[in-house]
Amino acid sequence: MDFSISKDTQTILDMIADFMEKEVYPLEPYLLREDFKELDVELEKKRRKVKEMGLWGPAQPKEYGGMGLGLVDFGLVSEAIGGSPLGHYIFGCQAPDAGNIEILHEHGTPEQKERYLRPLVEGKIRSCFSMTEVEMPGSNPTLMETSAVKEEGNYVINGQKWYTTSADGAEFAIVMAETNPNASRYKRASMIIVPTDTSGFDLVRNINIMGHQGAGFFSHAEILYHSCRVPQENLLGEEGAGFVIAQQRLGPGRIHHTMRWLGICSRSLKLMVERAAMRPIAEGKVLADKEIIQAWIAESAAEIAAARALTLQTAWKAENLGWKETRQEISMIKFVVANTMQRIIDRALQVHGGLGMTDDTILAYFHRHERAARIYDGADEVHKLSLARQILKPYRAEMQKARESIHA
Ligand SMILES: Cc1cc2nc3c(=O)[nH]c(=O)nc-3n(C[C@H](O)[C@H](O)[C@H](O)COP(=O)(O)OP(=O)(O)OC[C@H]3O[C@@H](n4cnc5c(N)ncnc54)[C@H](O)[C@@H]3O)c2cc1C
Repeated sequence: MDFSISKDTQTILDMIADFMEKEVYPLEPYLLREDFKELDVELEKKRRKVKEMGLWGPAQPKEYGGMGLGLVDFGLVSEAIGGSPLGHYIFGCQAPDAGNIEILHEHGTPEQKERYLRPLVEGKIRSCFSMTEVEMPGSNPTLMETSAVKEEGNYVINGQKWYTTSADGAEFAIVMAETNPNASRYKRASMIIVPTDTSGFDLVRNINIMGHQGAGFFSHAEILYHSCRVPQENLLGEEGAGFVIAQQRLGPGRIHHTMRWLGICSRSLKLMVERAAMRPIAEGKVLADKEIIQAWIAESAAEIAAARALTLQTAWKAENLGWKETRQEISMIKFVVANTMQRIIDRALQVHGGLGMTDDTILAYFHRHERAARIYDGADEVHKLSLARQILKPYRAEMQKARESIHA
């Protein structure tokens, strides 16, 4: 494994670091005081600048105007832009669009690519991904109530979804619905593209998350699909291939999240260190003189380095050996990095004392919005069980023998 950073990548990272400090972090107060209208105007200006700098869509296909970076380089870039909740959006590689871009690129028809993929990569429209249901467990999406019934060349969709992130203002949703209820468990559902102006696509509400409703890109909606009718040509990929495509979307999605979380870890540590170094705490002493704070700083730096190494190793493996070979590592990074991030945000909040509880720094925002990291894209428990199952697989026969031995 070669983890050396090429000269070109280093140049990109330096440009990004400078841009984040001068242009991105200063926009965060708009987000923190929830002035979404003004924020949108400012975000568009920064997106134009990123395009002029040639840094738009770092992981998006080159043929559609992205930079086409490989996973390892994108990992480094993602950490650099992930220090702000605005970073990925400004650089045109934000979830859920990034995942939708990948599956449209892989499975879209030429018409779907022209109508949905191209403007999405160019940042002219936004999209959302509508899989999780209110009444059914998101951890087991084979249990799904939303149906899409074929009728006169259309799919008629009925169901109730929530946590459709960024649906507010999106041009289209990629909806997971059951098209083949009599097929085997993993072949029942399909992905269908639903323009959000279709009659029967009802955005019921943006859900309050930790007391904040958000808006536009920064929101999570509940959607009612109420006899929502779209042409059959809006099927993405094969009928019944919904789970296969969802898995293809989730592998890269998980690694993209962890790469972004590393940015949050690094920013939180930087804020923790700066505060500790500058906060007088007793006569002739600052907070950073206290050993307990020094231990937090050291532990955080070491935990970030370990999480980064695991993430980059996973990226390298996925890139060189494929996603299937990387299943265990994907599960590992998902819960390891999510928990590392949470510990570091929490220590940074603690070091900031009362200030940490306010929105005068970005830390409280991280605390509110990144708790969900242990839940979305597979809850921690699901990843741990899946990883343990794979590790235990060679011991199946011995386990069975031992189980039976107790009755002998
Ligand atoms: C901020 C945020 C954004 C999201 N964005 C999207 C989106 O854009 N599109 C979308 O479709 N969905 C989205 N989701 C939904 C997300 O994917 C689901 O919340 C997740 O899959 C968990 O499903 P659930 O909420 O139904 O929890 P459940 O499936 O009910 O699980 C609840 C808890 O049970 C435990 N658990 C579950 N399974 C097991 C098991 N096998 N063994 C032991 N314990 C278990 C876990 O602790 C889990 O947290 C988002 C969620 C959040 C919080």
